[in-house]
Amino acid sequence: MKKRHDGSKSGSELRQRAERQLVDATLTSAIESQHRLMHELQVHQIELQMQNEALREARASAEQALLRYAELFDFAPLAYFTLNRDGSVQQTNFKGERMLAMERRNITGRRFANIVASDYRPVFTGFLEKVFANPGTQHCEIVLEPGGHATWVSIEAIADSDRQSCLAAMVDISERKNYEQELQLAATVYLAIEEAILVTDSNDKIIAVNPAFTKLTGYSAAEAIGQTMSLLKSSRYDEAFFTELWKQLNNTGQWQGEIWSRQKNGAEYLARLSITTVYDDQGREIRRVAMASDITEQRRAEQLIHQQANIDPLTGLPNRRMFLDRLQCAINKSHREHQKLALMFMDLDRFKDINDTLGHDVGDSLLKETTQRLMSCIRETDTLARPGGDEFTLILSELHGLNSIERVAQAMLGTMMAPFQLKDERCYVSVSIGIALYPDDADTMEELLKKADQAMYAAKDKGRSQFCFFTSAMQEASETRLRLTNDLRHALADNQFWVAYQPIVDLATGAIKKAEALIRWQHPTRGLVSPAEFIPIAEDSGLITEIGSWVFHQVADQVAKWRIKHHALFQISINKSPAQFHNNSDKMADWVEHLNRLGLPGGCIAVEITEGLLLDNSSIVADKLLAFKDAGMQTSLDDFGTGYSSLSYLKKYHIDFLKIDQAFVSNLVANSTDMTLCEAIIAMAHVLGMKVIAEGIETEEQRDLLFKAGCDYGQGYLFSKAVSAEEFETLFPVTNTEPGASS
Ligand code: C2E
Ligand code: MG
Ligand code: MG
Repeated sequence: MKKRHDGSKSGSELRQRAERQLVDATLTSAIESQHRLMHELQVHQIELQMQNEALREARASAEQALLRYAELFDFAPLAYFTLNRDGSVQQTNFKGERMLAMERRNITGRRFANIVASDYRPVFTGFLEKVFANPGTQHCEIVLEPGGHATWVSIEAIADSDRQSCLAAMVDISERKNYEQELQLAATVYLAIEEAILVTDSNDKIIAVNPAFTKLTGYSAAEAIGQTMSLLKSSRYDEAFFTELWKQLNNTGQWQGEIWSRQKNGAEYLARLSITTVYDDQGREIRRVAMASDITEQRRAEQLIHQQANIDPLTGLPNRRMFLDRLQCAINKSHREHQKLALMFMDLDRFKDINDTLGHDVGDSLLKETTQRLMSCIRETDTLARPGGDEFTLILSELHGLNSIERVAQAMLGTMMAPFQLKDERCYVSVSIGIALYPDDADTMEELLKKADQAMYAAKDKGRSQFCFFTSAMQEASETRLRLTNDLRHALADNQFWVAYQPIVDLATGAIKKAEALIRWQHPTRGLVSPAEFIPIAEDSGLITEIGSWVFHQVADQVAKWRIKHHALFQISINKSPAQFHNNSDKMADWVEHLNRLGLPGGCIAVEITEGLLLDNSSIVADKLLAFKDAGMQTSLDDFGTGYSSLSYLKKYHIDFLKIDQAFVSNLVANSTDMTLCEAIIAMAHVLGMKVIAEGIETEEQRDLLFKAGCDYGQGYLFSKAVSAEEFETLFPVTNTEPGASS
């Protein structure tokens, strides 16, 4: 207690002091906290200021970013569209404006679907639904048609988070689409085209083929790839051909042509081929594309058509059309090269007879065989043709002399000499050849043809199996023929004809039992014209019937007289040409009537016909021959041995006499072929009940040989030429004048 008493002043003092001290402390702390608050406020203000600054900066940069974004949006290389959920356009950028070729204000608010090509509208609508229904981007490709101009676009779109709008980015892909379509088209063509396509690389190795290639060549793609084009090489060409092909290909980059190629199975086909080269930017060859189509069938068809138009189907020779073509070419060539050319006209002698008798089949084989034979006589450069019927023509070009023409003509005549074996028949057919020369005889094709034809007729007139050159004399002959035809029309009325008689002698006794009536024409200016010359003209002009009838009446009157005066069984033979048989105005009944009027039996007349007539199948001939028989007249087969001799016909028509042609008689010597032939003919005729008359006996030797061979009658200059009736009278023996009984 002491301590408290001693150390402290009074209590109140102490309390006062303590109170003061408390006030002081409180004051101090209040001031301190005020200071602290101030400080904090200051700090806070600074912070706020800083935040403000940052905010301002952020806002400025945000505003800048927005501006940048708007610029980016506007100038973006893609077309952007913000589309509302209903498909209307909210916003677009410059590219969008350009793509639609519209100003922005016309775009906004418009339904985007309205600028989509109508075909693609459903696609677009579906696409938009997908965009709003799904998170993430969606893609589609459609065609826009702003202002009618189609543009392919690719669209990528994504919906906003609130799914009330979407952003669509569009790229114009028209170029790519066109390219794709072209590519697709090319691929389709490549696959579907009928032409085979083959592509090679710069090493000429095949790198691609299409299905048509496989179809054409038989090689699958696997088999072809890696090979070269020589895989298809045919054996038809030599190396030079391919060297030329490659040369052209390398020089021009192209080759086109027709080429025989080979398939996998070895078969060859004709291809129309075109090869094209593909170059790179530097002009280096990188590919070759070959396209080929098979034209084998087409070529075959063309050839067939050509053949049908130009080739005679029977013989395979050029027909008239082609022959004329060739002739014109040959003439042109001769003209250019100053060379001669010969044209030969060939006509088969008596072809018609064979055709009519043995049938067209046999006629056809004869023509074929003839073609073979004629072909064997000519060079490859000569053109043998068959313009028609039994006519053949030959063009001999590049001539070096007339000798060669004659050689060919001789060879042709020679080759035709050998007998033709047709069916079961053997027969002989000869050819008559007319020859005209270019430019000697004619300088145009038409003239040359005419002259060769005239020469051919001249050859026929000379006798069969002959050749004849055209000469101006030939030209005159044809003119003469024309004039004679005119003159012949008046000859009968003007009494220019008379009948000559040539005795036919019984070889056993030498007695004249018969005569042949041979007409003579005493032409007022030309003198005596040979029947060999005018009978063919009379036949051609139809005058033969009238003339023949006149001869008959003359002969009938004459035989009546001679039967009374010289020989009761005297008989005169009359030549009757085939033309008379075919003429309807030639009435048999008139002849028979005339004989009756004269009180003559038919047997006083014999009718001489030629072999060709018997070959004629027509019933007219058979009927007339039968009518002769019925009237009691006899028939003689004239010029036997020169034509187509068939035994069956002799029998069928009951021929009474067979006249051996003078061709066999004129060279008759013992042991000759002709002798053997005569003996055979005589023996055969006798077997068939016919008598034989030998024509053209000029020597006693001939007569004796024939008599020995058994020949019945003879006729010829040895006994007498054909003479007038008065002169003939003197040939009868004076003793033989008593009238005999009629037969
Ligand atoms: P053909 O009927 O064969 O007459 C025989 C021809 O040979 C006659 O010529 C005759 O004169 C001739 N000849 C007779 N013997 C000999 C001889 O020993 N040597 C030679 N080299 N020849 C002889 P032709 O009178 O010139 O008559 C020629 C042809 O004319 C006849 O040939 C006949 O086919 C025809 N012919 C004559 N007269 C007539 C007729 O009135 N009518 C018809 N249709 N044709 C007739
Ligand atoms: Mg006669
Ligand atoms: Mg005769």
